[in-house]
Amino acid sequence: MTTTFADLGLSPALLDAITARGYETPTRVQATAIGPLLKGQDLVVQAPTGTGKTAAYGLPLLAKVDPSAKRVQALVLTPTRELALQVTDMLTAYAAALPEVKVATLYGGHPFETQTRAIRAGAQVVVATPGRIMEHLRRHTASLDHVAYAVIDEADEMLRMGFLEDVEWILARSSSERQTALFSATIPLPVRRVAKRHCRRPKSIGTDAALTVDTIDARAIEVAEGAKLDALMRLLDAETIGAALVFARTQQSVAELAGTLERHGFRVEGFHGGMSQGHRERVVTKLRVGQVDIVVATDVAARGLDFDRLTHVIVFDAPKDPELWVHRAGRTGRSGRQGHAILLYTKRDAKRVKGIELYTRKRLQRARLPSSDQAAEARQARLKRRIRAVLAEGDQGALERYAKVLAEVVDEGGVEPLVVAAALAKLLHGDRPLGVETKTRAKRDRKGGSSGRADKPRRRPPMKKKVDPDKPPKRRGRAGRGKGRGGSST
Ligand code: AMP
Repeated sequence: MTTTFADLGLSPALLDAITARGYETPTRVQATAIGPLLKGQDLVVQAPTGTGKTAAYGLPLLAKVDPSAKRVQALVLTPTRELALQVTDMLTAYAAALPEVKVATLYGGHPFETQTRAIRAGAQVVVATPGRIMEHLRRHTASLDHVAYAVIDEADEMLRMGFLEDVEWILARSSSERQTALFSATIPLPVRRVAKRHCRRPKSIGTDAALTVDTIDARAIEVAEGAKLDALMRLLDAETIGAALVFARTQQSVAELAGTLERHGFRVEGFHGGMSQGHRERVVTKLRVGQVDIVVATDVAARGLDFDRLTHVIVFDAPKDPELWVHRAGRTGRSGRQGHAILLYTKRDAKRVKGIELYTRKRLQRARLPSSDQAAEARQARLKRRIRAVLAEGDQGALERYAKVLAEVVDEGGVEPLVVAAALAKLLHGDRPLGVETKTRAKRDRKGGSSGRADKPRRRPPMKKKVDPDKPPKRRGRAGRGKGRGGSST
């Protein structure tokens, strides 16, 4: 029998908020964690992002908070400010029918005073990144003496970012009477140790679950060294993409890739830790409202990036650490929707792909790159769809005004109307070739260069060698450079 939210023992106010959010049934982690959390059980939950983990800890948190007591009673620690903001948004939505419950978000780069005021005003819930809450605790602008419920979200990310000690420092300064829940996509040993030290007889949930969400179609595509950029563009053309998150290794490669994709007419933004917070927030907004379809990001920056339109994750550099694949892939395939995670790898990275398979205990489907014909067909179909969409809008007035201007172009230039329409389509389509890619474009790409909008200056073209992505990758001789440690560091 399927568990319902009502079966879990949540209050009518929370049930209403869940219904308003459009959630019909609890996800697996919600069905297994909410009951024990409501009963006061400490938990260690293995749940990658996208499994509904925020509601899994957030709903019991809100059920436990006493709205009339104006002091911090619940704490959620997150590794990044983006995740802190996202958790705050979700908690605020779940608390829609609990107007007295206030959430304060504490993160670096946001005015300290504003945060202090929010705490003084009686926020019962604090969502914080470690560094900033430590500062508040040191300055005595926040107290965790009355915290009855603490959550460590994305504990493995805390570990990777070197925050685990800070987390312990913070927990040691909160009430020892509290209930503690630790959520993490993976449970490496140091995380397990923290759970042992700071949770009371914690129950483990979901630790045997497969490490990637079932709704993700995960593929690995082998490409020749130097042909990755073309392969990426071909994928972006041929796949039916709502929005795509492309992972690159460094801030420099983020800027290079975003710049190159933009020059080829993709609606793309870079997203990395070197950008100001305001800039990053603008990118997130553009993504949410559909002004941008592709974000190229580093792992650190992408951690808190979560948006419903995301259909594709494309990993440009195979990571050395398989956990990174789990995190990257887990950005898509959320809320039961189908997502696609595609790993581009070179022969040299074949071991990394094996490592990922061993770690996730799942085979990555080996796929082929779409052909240049398929990519061209997809580009043409997309152009037709865009034109038909404008026609379907039926804004006769506007169309007539455009038609008048175009009639003048036809008359004055003595050209066929269809030729004028073609010129307009070219204008709409941008620089990208509409038909099958030609060598001319390959040459132009090789020049690389800056679009002037990326954050870091780009002096070198993104790819040194140009290789035809249609050709099978060349095998490297045993004495080749790939023999040593080689590979790119993650
Ligand atoms: P999370 O893993 O908490 O980041 O949640 C991922 C996404 O799933 C968010 O967009 C949530 O709003 C959504 N979500 C969470 N729980 C449910 C549910 N029971 N039904 C449908 N969507 C959900």
